[in-house]
Amino acid sequence: MHIHEFQEMMRRLYFHRDNERGVKGTYNWLADELGELGEALKANDKEAAEKEFADVIAWLTSLANITGIDLERATINKYSDKCPKCQQSPCQCTF
Ligand SMILES: [Zn+2]
Repeated sequence: MHIHEFQEMMRRLYFHRDNERGVKGTYNWLADELGELGEALKANDKEAAEKEFADVIAWLTSLANITGIDLERATINKYSDKCPKCQQSPCQCTF
């Protein structure tokens, strides 16, 4: 499944509810899910982390749907087989 197909599936499943909730409420859900992912990682609980990764992607996709962002296009445009900052693969940026 491509990112675009996942986004369309999420649109079919949840757009009516996501759109009603709005950007702020959906963003807040995404932020909560990121927090839960952080807790699962801190606890070194791989099973919980796997579920939280799924939730983060689901809520991120819902947010993209209600803001009219095509996630596949956005990610490929920015991360097209090289680092967007240094233009290298693998990245050679110094931190
Ligand atoms: Zn780089």
